[in-house]
Amino acid sequence: MSTGDPGAPPPLPERAVHQKTEDTRTYPCTNCGGQLVFDPATQKLKCPNCGNIQDIIEDAGRVTAEQDFQAAVAKLHAQAATDGPQLVGEKEVVCQNCGGHTTFTGTLTSTRCPYCATPIQRDDVHDAPARLPVDGVLPFSVDERKARESLEAWINNRWFAPSEFKKYKQTGAFTSVYASYFTYDAETDTWYDGRRGEEYTVTVGSGDKEHTETRVNWYDVSGQVHNSFDDIAVLANDGFDRNKVTALEPWPTQQARPFSAEYVAGHLSRTYDRDVEACLGEARGRMDAEIESTIRQDIGGDRQDINRKDTNFQSLTFKHLLLPIWLLTVVYAGRPFQVFINGITGEVQGQRPWSKVKLAVAITIAVIVIVIVAILWRGSGGGSSQ
Ligand SMILES: [Zn+2]
Ligand SMILES: [Zn+2]
Repeated sequence: MSTGDPGAPPPLPERAVHQKTEDTRTYPCTNCGGQLVFDPATQKLKCPNCGNIQDIIEDAGRVTAEQDFQAAVAKLHAQAATDGPQLVGEKEVVCQNCGGHTTFTGTLTSTRCPYCATPIQRDDVHDAPARLPVDGVLPFSVDERKARESLEAWINNRWFAPSEFKKYKQTGAFTSVYASYFTYDAETDTWYDGRRGEEYTVTVGSGDKEHTETRVNWYDVSGQVHNSFDDIAVLANDGFDRNKVTALEPWPTQQARPFSAEYVAGHLSRTYDRDVEACLGEARGRMDAEIESTIRQDIGGDRQDINRKDTNFQSLTFKHLLLPIWLLTVVYAGRPFQVFINGITGEVQGQRPWSKVKLAVAITIAVIVIVIVAILWRGSGGGSSQ
């Protein structure tokens, strides 16, 4: 390496075929012309047609590095001022395989042609100047068979679910989707003022009235605490039940791979609906709760009052990650119910409907059983001393 221009690294081998007119990319199989998809079982690209398997091409120069929050936001604002706001909107593309028309709506960036199932990805979102690129991806490790098993077990354990819900195979949509997340790291210093309460008991009254009471001595305190936050994950997509998706945590974000669009081939994928500034609010909420708990430990004693706290961020960084979720949507009584499966751990979290008819029948049976037991009990002389 003593001579020569370090220059640009050699271009990576490229498997994707870019459709310039449509701004899309696909992954044709070199063996049979079928379409490669990312296969969770092998962690490789696989042709569902002929079984051809190919390694994922990762960009070795690309790392899932933390980005400085302030610098990134300042750059985005400057880009938005010159390029205008980046509208994702609707985009209709022509499938290069069958000629059918597919529409990318909202923040969808990877889908399948509805006519021939060819995986198609938008090429123009992640590289858009005023949008943040993806830093990393957690590839699916739970494949469709395992996901369906977990789903089956979960649904069969939902008592009094309507039969229509249990027929989700016919009535629901089950799909793999990479959801967009921002994860935040921070180092914080917090100064606080407050009071430490120390309890003691006194005996009061006399005779029959004598009893003990708990009283508190309060002491003014102030101090400083330090907190380290690592990968606080905030969902950046709308349209999901946030509480259920949050319950899928923790995500093993330290296993994230540098982003390659090949991991997304054949699965739905969405870019963010809420940007890195909007998602910070939720992350701050979680940080503040943890900072408060640290302050309470620092104050000690039996009770703590916090009168004032000022937090200073030594550093605040983030990553834009795609995380894998299996999603079932069933429409029941005109309302969508969503069930989510963590694409790494297989954990299931979901909404479920209740069948009024089944509940009514169960309550009626329970009442009848109670009445019969009561009658038999009296008949046998139990419970009565006469
Ligand atoms: Zn093939
Ligand atoms: Zn097609």
